[in-house]
Amino acid sequence: MQVRVASHSGFCFGVKRAIKIAEKTLASSKGAKNIYSLGSIIHNPQVVGALSKKGLKVIKDINDARTGTVIISSHGAPIEIVTKIKKKKLDLVDATCPFVKNAHNIVKDLKSKGYDVIVIGDKKHPEVKALLSLTGASPTAGVAHPRGGGGKKVAFVSQTTQSKDNYLRGIFDILKEDFSEARIFNTICSDTAQRQALAKKFLKECDVMMVVGGKNSANTRRLYQICRESGVDSHHIETEKEIKKKWFFKKKSCGVVSGASTPDEMVKKITKKIKTLMKGR
Ligand code: SF4
Repeated sequence: MQVRVASHSGFCFGVKRAIKIAEKTLASSKGAKNIYSLGSIIHNPQVVGALSKKGLKVIKDINDARTGTVIISSHGAPIEIVTKIKKKKLDLVDATCPFVKNAHNIVKDLKSKGYDVIVIGDKKHPEVKALLSLTGASPTAGVAHPRGGGGKKVAFVSQTTQSKDNYLRGIFDILKEDFSEARIFNTICSDTAQRQALAKKFLKECDVMMVVGGKNSANTRRLYQICRESGVDSHHIETEKEIKKKWFFKKKSCGVVSGASTPDEMVKKITKKIKTLMKGR
């Protein structure tokens, strides 16, 4: 059996940057003060575990931070949380990915021009929560929805890790309602788009797919959704320990793709394990 690994794998630019910021913040404090991250700094439990060993305290609620520094994750944070961090006089280190920041700036600009801004994405995801806080709208069914009847100026932005198909489906659903003007912004990041394109290419050539990355990672889950919906046998795994030999029974070609917060090392371990299991086949 042939094992094919996507040419674009390992950490994306935004994840590398967030890890670097966290490591630098931890190193400069030398354990002298609390360093918190509000939620996981990136959505990969193994990487977050390694940073925790270096002293990073992951908190779910900003009220759990007493004194010290709060690092905002690569996904960004809602405006009210940023205000609270400043009010509590905590130091703020912003590791929000520049692609996410770009979406923030687009939303702010549209809002100031009177648009109802609609965010297409997972409403529970921290990135979407942050974007929604800037639109001033509350989410319904995964999107921030325009209220009221006709005559509305609407504008669409996407979660940076959304698939283009989901984004377009969401836009068409909403455009069935009355509106006077609609603007669409492609805020899907180039890294996400590239990984999804590679997965689609492999789906035409492979009969089993491994999608590697955190089970809590939105972009990895999106890759898995694309693979699963294609009908090709697909498995979402975080580590090589989850691999089962029976997945490869009678398979000719296995494609390996990974999410943006998956270390290169993990992709290599998984590829090695598959090759070892399939030796001689
Ligand atoms: S997936 Fe894209 S938006 Fe998300 S952190 Fe990576 S580069 Fe930034």
